[in-house]
Amino acid sequence: MNVVIIGGGAAGISLAIEAARENPQAKIEIIEKNNSLGKKIFATGNGKCNISNINGEDIASVLLLFESIGLMIRDEDEGRLYPYSEQASSVVEAFEREIDRLRIKKRLNTEVERIEKSKNEFKIILKRGDPVFADRIAVTTGGKAAPQFGTSGDGYRFAKNLGHSITKLAPTLMPVICEGEFDGIKGVRVKGIATLIKKGNSPVIEKGEIQFTDQGLSGICIFNLSRLIKIEEGMKLEDGFREYSIVLDLVPETSVQMLTDYLLQKKNKMLDEMAPAILHSMLPKKLAGFAYERALGRKERKVSEITAPEMEKLSKSIKALTFTVTGGKGWKEAQCTSGGVALEEINMNTMESKLVKGLFFGGEVIDYDGPCGGYNLQNAWLNGIKAGHNIVKGI
Ligand SMILES: Cc1cc2nc3c(=O)[nH]c(=O)nc-3n(C[C@H](O)[C@H](O)[C@H](O)COP(=O)(O)OP(=O)(O)OC[C@H]3O[C@@H](n4cnc5c(N)ncnc54)[C@H](O)[C@@H]3O)c2cc1C
Repeated sequence: MNVVIIGGGAAGISLAIEAARENPQAKIEIIEKNNSLGKKIFATGNGKCNISNINGEDIASVLLLFESIGLMIRDEDEGRLYPYSEQASSVVEAFEREIDRLRIKKRLNTEVERIEKSKNEFKIILKRGDPVFADRIAVTTGGKAAPQFGTSGDGYRFAKNLGHSITKLAPTLMPVICEGEFDGIKGVRVKGIATLIKKGNSPVIEKGEIQFTDQGLSGICIFNLSRLIKIEEGMKLEDGFREYSIVLDLVPETSVQMLTDYLLQKKNKMLDEMAPAILHSMLPKKLAGFAYERALGRKERKVSEITAPEMEKLSKSIKALTFTVTGGKGWKEAQCTSGGVALEEINMNTMESKLVKGLFFGGEVIDYDGPCGGYNLQNAWLNGIKAGHNIVKGI
């Protein structure tokens, strides 16, 4: 009796380990199209791997898994968990050591093309080479986000061919493209509050680091807001995005009134300096110029020329710097996929398909996407644990 796991990312790796521990007699094999396991994990959390979150579902089981492979964990703000070394490579190494210790077979550089099911077994057709046969299989091929790590959405095709429904797919947790010119401020990072606004919807607020790119906005709070941008069915993509704007408060600690008073006082100490300098100690210089121009236009004037009403306008603008969203950065720069294999067709306790016996799912391929903070890897590990326990039952 043999089990084949298609896709050796976070879900596939944890699934294989749990399955091998649960039933040491089972023959377990991972098929992975890359030349090593867990390629995407190396890139997570900017190379530090935000491996999970203390507030994640059934965190105890996931922590137990980390402990069992000798992976030391540290926690940071908002419950984010990282490997103690703060190196994603430690995560992959610890999991891989356990895979080897358990003698789980790895078939690397091998791309699955198609899966067929006969009465008693699955036939896994490879892009190159002879087909592989299995009694039970797990599809842990990830989503469509960041295809440079091997995830081009094959799992959705496999699931669909086996009779499953796939909910609407869209890239998420991504930088957004905004109307305007941003060359002058690309690379600038600030801490502030970002609010997503859509007419008729309640505004959504995120606090944290905001980064400016050549085309718009990025950073964790922008990623989280991008999750909430929904384009209505049948709507042109750009028109859908344009319904949203993001408003930045670059000095959330103060009110407009306090900020205006502060700037008017400051004015008297720097009358001869160029106007945008009034914002210099508050914002990075490039952003000060950008924000000043947005609020008051012409920069070639002296601080002394800024009138009191203009100072109030400037304060208002810094506390509500508004960007019209015109697009998202798409699959290549997205960290996750929204949509996937419909959850109602999966037994979420065992991760087995309700439609095809012996077929299991786990990770990003299912219709789950979480916010930044370790929730997406958490979902992958936990699905892997559940499926691993169950995929070898009765073998
Ligand atoms: C840049 C970046 C940073 C991120 N940072 C974080 C973070 O810090 N914390 C967090 O929680 N989440 C993060 N994520 C999201 C997280 O990495 C994913 O949600 C998670 O890896 C999904 O795990 P998975 O096992 O489902 O899929 P993956 O880890 O994507 O693994 C799927 C595997 O299947 C293989 N595969 C696909 N198709 C085939 C095929 N036809 N044949 C054989 N093999 C195939 C792929 O090569 C891949 O190795 C980040 C994502 C990106 C892109």
